[in-house]
Amino acid sequence: MKATKIVATIGPASESEEMLERLFSAGVNVCRLNFSHGSHEWHSDAIGRIRSVSDRLGVHVGVLADLQGPRIRTLVSDEIVLESDQRVVVVGGMPSGGDELSIGLDCPRVVANFVEGHEILIEDGLMRLRVVSSGTDRVEAVVIDGGVVKNHKGINVPDTDVPLASLTEKDLSDLAFVLDEGVDFVALSFVRRGADVRDLRARILSHLGDRAEAVPQIVSKVERKEALLALPEILRETDVVMVARGDLGIEAQPSRVTIFQKEIIAQCLKAARPVIVATQMLDSMIRNPRPTRAEVSDVSNAVIDHADAVMLSGETAGGAYPFETVSTMSAIIRDTEESPFDDVLEALETTVDSDYVSVLRGAYDLARHSQARAILLFSHSGFTARLMSHFRPQERLYVATDEVLTARQLALVWGVRSYVTERTEDPYKAIVGLIDRLKKEDRLKVGDSAVIVLGALPGVGSLRLVGVQVVE
Ligand code: PGA
Ligand code: MN
Repeated sequence: MKATKIVATIGPASESEEMLERLFSAGVNVCRLNFSHGSHEWHSDAIGRIRSVSDRLGVHVGVLADLQGPRIRTLVSDEIVLESDQRVVVVGGMPSGGDELSIGLDCPRVVANFVEGHEILIEDGLMRLRVVSSGTDRVEAVVIDGGVVKNHKGINVPDTDVPLASLTEKDLSDLAFVLDEGVDFVALSFVRRGADVRDLRARILSHLGDRAEAVPQIVSKVERKEALLALPEILRETDVVMVARGDLGIEAQPSRVTIFQKEIIAQCLKAARPVIVATQMLDSMIRNPRPTRAEVSDVSNAVIDHADAVMLSGETAGGAYPFETVSTMSAIIRDTEESPFDDVLEALETTVDSDYVSVLRGAYDLARHSQARAILLFSHSGFTARLMSHFRPQERLYVATDEVLTARQLALVWGVRSYVTERTEDPYKAIVGLIDRLKKEDRLKVGDSAVIVLGALPGVGSLRLVGVQVVE
């Protein structure tokens, strides 16, 4: 069993039931659906297949709907070849033609915000322009790095204020769709501040009304400079964070991506918020059955940083080797976790300070300094399980919950393996049932000892640390 979780993006290379089954068996815990691509019909079918394969295998795989967010794209009727030092005109909307070399942007209002010196990056930063003269509906730019500009390619404008709401018309329609489909996480791209997350949560709650049992968690994608600065405020509002290194590497200094990753993870651990490391982790496996050594190192490094999860994008969505990629990632995670390099030597600090945290810290210490092989925990909403996971205990962490949604959301959380039990007023009964199942699965045997924690149950009971119990 690996503790670090895997998020895999589902696409044409992985959408079939056969492939999903192989990927889940190889270690995928959460499926990401990228709403930059695909129709609602496609996504609905994919969700149906993910749910049915999970049920068949008896695993709780989470579904994460990733909203495109305020992404600006190119508008050109024909491909345009750009060469270094050339002058080019950038306009809002489709360029009208004529002799000028011009590129259109699908967000007309951003053009007025360009001033001399601002950079415009096209297609993951492959092409780069610098603005030389500003204007309200057209600006002139010089080509720094040339290439071929195609239609509908992503644009990054790291220096410029983007006058787009954090949720576009498309995002709002996608959001309504995914809430009705019942996903476990909604990811928000290009988050700038805490208010963006607050706004999304308000819309989710108002759409769901009294279907409160279906509220997905929010994943804030940190990929803009503003988000790095506003991280403490974003952490207060969000449930989960994604280090979205693709855009982050373009929007902020690419040479500092590793440092940002470590800083973001450290802050998430303190705030006890699950964190995903994303993008290009095994990128060359889109084309090859083996990773580069640098990619192996990248995955190991995220494990050593104590991230909750690592993510695959094109590797599983459209690559030639989705199964091999997941198997490779699982093997790297396992080998790294078996090594001493990811060990937590002292209890991690946390900014979450309460009696609740003190009790869980006590359970962590007890597990560490006793013969306990596992920590058994009852968690209704997942809150207690997330706090316990925050300490990154060496012992196995088995969680009983009476909510399927909780089990699916815990699929993302480091070290947690969840079991769904019947609705209960007595958390200890759920633990007894859990012990039975763990014995059947050979995960615990008679004579093993385990630390038992009973999370609070709304309206029924408060947090209880039962102590060490020997399995009978
Ligand atoms: P994306 O987000 O793949 O949706 O752009 C991840 C990233 O930017 O790294
Ligand atoms: Mn991105």
